[in-house]
Amino acid sequence: MVHFVGAGPGAPDLITLRGWEHIREADVIIYAGSLVNPALLKGAKEGCAVYNSAEMTLEEVLAVMEQAEGAGKTTVRLHTGDPCLYGAIREQMDALAARGILYDGTPGVSSFCAAAAALGAEYTLPGVSQSVIITRMVGRTPVPERESVAAMAAHGTSMVLFLSSGLLEEVQGELLKGAYTQDTPAALVYKASWPEEKTVYCTVGTLAETGRAHGIQKTALVLVGGFLGAEYQRSKLYDPQFTTGYREGRQ
Ligand code: SAH
Repeated sequence: MVHFVGAGPGAPDLITLRGWEHIREADVIIYAGSLVNPALLKGAKEGCAVYNSAEMTLEEVLAVMEQAEGAGKTTVRLHTGDPCLYGAIREQMDALAARGILYDGTPGVSSFCAAAAALGAEYTLPGVSQSVIITRMVGRTPVPERESVAAMAAHGTSMVLFLSSGLLEEVQGELLKGAYTQDTPAALVYKASWPEEKTVYCTVGTLAETGRAHGIQKTALVLVGGFLGAEYQRSKLYDPQFTTGYREGRQ
């Protein structure tokens, strides 16, 4: 059996109880060493074999899983944040299915949630935005043309850019081709939930300059949108005059 586990954004106590239990019971752990906090490996039992997938190919990862399975062992595949975002898990799952190896998934706290927590931000603010676009800048990894940052920026909604903090000049240019302006609020969140976490507010027009000034190039998220500004409306849900399934509105 292979358990795909979300490690959370960095702080070791931000893994789920289920994820932690899988780590404690694993015979083999393959962790994404570029971003997963190695402190999580302290939960592994004695004799657990640990592999850093940052130094491995897909084929090598699969070979370790296959060998473990053949020996009746349990493997944990530990991915940063939540594995469903930029986790490259589908190719592993399909390969396991083709080999008849059972697997399951345990979600994790994605870095975009940890970044909001670090800023005390809410992506879905009444009167501002009710949608979040999660995307990335095209780089060495392609992005479908219809999903270019400029195309996504046409919506002007809350946006989170993964894997793009090394390309802030390009990000800024693309965002300005859409509905955002030079003054649209933005933020950079570096290593959310790690001890070295850094949060910097700026605007779309100053993204690149802010990144340079603070030396933020990787392991950071770019957040963009009016949700980082001061204006919003109060919620209907908690409005005294609004009737819900649980509460009668007062006139
Ligand atoms: N599955 C992960 C994302 C993996 S892609 C998740 O759900 O968070 C790797 C990118 O995620 C990094 O380049 C960076 O943009 C972002 N990232 C991961 N951990 C982060 C953290 N603690 N703080 C800020 N950004 C982070």
